[in-house]
Amino acid sequence: MSLRQPWCGYGRLHVFVQERYQKARWVMALKITEECINCDVCEPVCPNQAIYPGESIYHIDPSKCTECVGHFDEPQCQVLCPVDCIPLDPSHQETQTELLDKYQRLQQKEAEVIPA
Ligand code: SF4
Ligand code: SF4
Repeated sequence: MSLRQPWCGYGRLHVFVQERYQKARWVMALKITEECINCDVCEPVCPNQAIYPGESIYHIDPSKCTECVGHFDEPQCQVLCPVDCIPLDPSHQETQTELLDKYQRLQQKEAEVIPA
């Protein structure tokens, strides 16, 4: 019998640990590396306007990047970048709660800028 079966003791433990791990998973902003070829694909797809052109390559403002949470299932810039130069940025780790707070703060700011 597989230890992963939910009806066996070890299976329940496995599911418990997996759920705890998922809840505790650190999330983080993404960053653009030197491999960027300035193709301009990522900037318009960012729902938070977190991507901006720098002197030589594009950059991501970590205070605005939410890994696209609240808008899309996957980070849109990362999915569309043709040279795969947008990894996670371990120097900007956050919890899921902090990330959701950031998303809500950004939504609130946007609502203030564009009155109904
Ligand atoms: S992951 Fe999403 S929110 Fe973050 S920079 Fe990329 S497109 Fe913008
Ligand atoms: S999609 Fe990738 S290569 Fe293109 S501008 Fe953005 S980071 Fe640079």
